[in-house]
Amino acid sequence: MIAALSKYVFHPLWDLKEGSQRLTEWRRLESMQWWDEAELRNYQTQRLKAMVGYSAKHSWYYRNLFKSNGLSFTDDNFSLEDFKKVPVTTKKEVRNFLPQFISEQFQRDNLVQAKTGGSTGVSLELYFDKTCQEYRNAAQLMADRWSGWDIGQAKAAVWGNPPTPVGLKQVLRHHLHDRTIYLDTMDLNPDSMNEFVAHWRRVKPEAVFGHAHSIFIFAKYLVDNQIGDLRPRGIVATSMMLLDHERKLIEQAFECPVTNRYGCEEVGLIACECEEHDGMHINTPHVFVELLDSNDQPVKPGEPGKIVLTDLNNYGMPLIRYRVEDVGVYSERSCRCGRGLPILERLEGRVADFLVLPSGGQVAGISLIERTLSRIPGIEQMQLVQESIDLITINRVKGHDYDANTDPGLIQAMRETFDESVRIEINDVGAIAQEPSGKYRFSICKV
Ligand SMILES: [Zn+2]
Repeated sequence: MIAALSKYVFHPLWDLKEGSQRLTEWRRLESMQWWDEAELRNYQTQRLKAMVGYSAKHSWYYRNLFKSNGLSFTDDNFSLEDFKKVPVTTKKEVRNFLPQFISEQFQRDNLVQAKTGGSTGVSLELYFDKTCQEYRNAAQLMADRWSGWDIGQAKAAVWGNPPTPVGLKQVLRHHLHDRTIYLDTMDLNPDSMNEFVAHWRRVKPEAVFGHAHSIFIFAKYLVDNQIGDLRPRGIVATSMMLLDHERKLIEQAFECPVTNRYGCEEVGLIACECEEHDGMHINTPHVFVELLDSNDQPVKPGEPGKIVLTDLNNYGMPLIRYRVEDVGVYSERSCRCGRGLPILERLEGRVADFLVLPSGGQVAGISLIERTLSRIPGIEQMQLVQESIDLITINRVKGHDYDANTDPGLIQAMRETFDESVRIEINDVGAIAQEPSGKYRFSICKV
């Protein structure tokens, strides 16, 4: 009853009151997702052209970048070929030239300010215009519904720093509109998880959202304590780092498939699995995604490439060909669901998460950990820290099946990748420390 009221009454009323385009854009996306790929590409190119033309006029940074590279973009003069000559923008440039990125048509005070979570150790200040925020929320609504959840239904969030509603307006919004219960990942312990289970049973949320690893820890608590009555319709893992063994345990704990999602603060939703759970559909109407090699040239389907994004929504602070420091693989196959949105096959991990081999090669820490965890029993959690080219520290949390063979097995598994010139040390730790944002880092490279 409350779910229906929330969906059909409170959500539309709230948008009307706020003058928001969120639901309008959501309805547009709901229909657009079924367009064929060519139609979607065409729509995307129109929006790309508009954003690049706008940036040439109103962003000091891009106007000068285009000019110094002999590129000219106007409303009638745009080619993808020229667009691909625009040098890639890095986080460093955004940090160093922040005011110059912001559109001259906006006052900074009228924009929404945000900071990135710093999951790669990089914290960035960003600004969004109001419409951009509404469009991003619309895309999130569409993707949330792919998980099995629907507008108006209660949600559970396993999240760091949950918001506390203040004042009547926020309290009303919380109960009638957002309908979310939180488990704070800044302090996950048996007591807080037990309390959350009780809260869950009262509210009966239809979906759970959170960083993959945080949901995993909660799922493990449920399995270990034989709690088998939490049954959401959807689970959305919003972190890119969803390991296979974590996914399996989460699905076992909730008897529900996990929907893997990839996004970032800078551009919002990038890609998300649909109900087929076979690769992630790219948010084509809102973001132009490129996968590039080390020379910033496009990679082929199936090959890992550095993810470079152009935001098509944020006129307040344009980001064009922005390197987000993640690595992904795309595919040209279409999904069984019939949506025309193209497929991001998988994420290989953040660039920063690759470890360096003495040979100069790189190895994805996430893959190394996944392989090790799936083969060596006795480890609950591990984190690789490459202190230098010849020293790797493994922070290891003992599992219940830990025995005398675990650590030698762990070293041996690492030796398949790193030869004797690399010292490998194991630290016995009680837990892996979290980032201040609440995210976990599985591998840290200090080289
Ligand atoms: Zn699909």
